[in-house]
Amino acid sequence: MPRVCEFVLVKRTRTRLRVTMNFFRSNITTMTGYAPGEQPQGGKFIKLNTNENPYPCSAKVQASIGRAVEAGLQKYPDPTATAFRIRAAELYGVEPDWILCGNGSDDILTIVTRAFVDTGNHVRFARPSYTLYQTLAEIQGAKCHIVDYQPDWSLGEDFALHCDHLRLAYLANPNSPSGTVILPDEVARIADALPCPLVVDEAYADFAETNCLSLVAENEKVMVARTLSKSYALAGLRFGFLVAQPQVIRELSKVKDSYNCDTLSIAGATAAIDDQLWFEQTRAAVISTRTRLAEQLQTLGFDCVGSQANFVWCKHPKHSSQQLYQRLKADGVLVRYLDYGDWGDGLRITVGTDEQIDAFLAILSAII
Ligand SMILES: *Cc1c(COP(=O)(O)O)cnc(C)c1O
Repeated sequence: MPRVCEFVLVKRTRTRLRVTMNFFRSNITTMTGYAPGEQPQGGKFIKLNTNENPYPCSAKVQASIGRAVEAGLQKYPDPTATAFRIRAAELYGVEPDWILCGNGSDDILTIVTRAFVDTGNHVRFARPSYTLYQTLAEIQGAKCHIVDYQPDWSLGEDFALHCDHLRLAYLANPNSPSGTVILPDEVARIADALPCPLVVDEAYADFAETNCLSLVAENEKVMVARTLSKSYALAGLRFGFLVAQPQVIRELSKVKDSYNCDTLSIAGATAAIDDQLWFEQTRAAVISTRTRLAEQLQTLGFDCVGSQANFVWCKHPKHSSQQLYQRLKADGVLVRYLDYGDWGDGLRITVGTDEQIDAFLAILSAII
């Protein structure tokens, strides 16, 4: 019997896994699915491709997770991560019932999409931006309005245009891959003009000079998503949250998995936001390396945009971005090559430690 199974498995992989039963919803079989950045396991590369924090998280995180393990894991976690919400509410000047926690902010974006977007509805987001928005819309069987950024990285009037079927708009702010920011006044204007809710994805707001948290109290349709993956160096822990008005959080909670945050991530995330000294120091280090990285890239002839995130988006007028990505990879440096079709392509380089960025710049200048 095991032999038969083995044979079938090998054969299936060779025929590229085409499903023959037709019980899948048609939007699932026709969609491509989200393509995450490469995550090679082990320390072979200087890894500057998925915007992780290069520094280890606060030591308080490990201690807190250790205590949670000692206390035992046989019971279900707190379904609403109350300990985290109490601490985060103090930090951000809201009440705990304004916060919904998730298994990373991707989980938060999924919950929001499932709650608002039905088959045949429309969603809106900008290009180039976080490509997960399109995947989430496709899972629902929704139609995407993709609005291109202007050459100066502002959003034209089209982003707020009225449309009867529009149910949700996503705005990454700071944007990825550009690192550029739409100022809160402009976001408020967009939110007021939009005929639907707006989720402001602030995955990188901790590295920026402004954020849109204060807009949540002014407009029931504004929701702000945050993550501990980047600024708190906890991409491996999976913890994110949403700030919205309490009646909105109440409806969204019906859509989430009952135990979407586990005991260890709640313990770790709560300890992380409690250590604001670690946070301030690490943020300052990342921002200072970001400035240096952008200056050096410009010295090497790259066109860079001013970034308020923990990465820099760039393109060289004389070298193909895709080839540079491949040459760098061959030399042990992983950066992100992103191709947005007829919009164009470029390289997104995560801010590493000073040592990593020095090594990267040395390899890059040798290539150029
Ligand atoms: C990294 C990222 C996220 C998701 O972060 P999680 O690890 O799922 O918390 C969300 N939005 C943008 C724009 C990101 O870059």
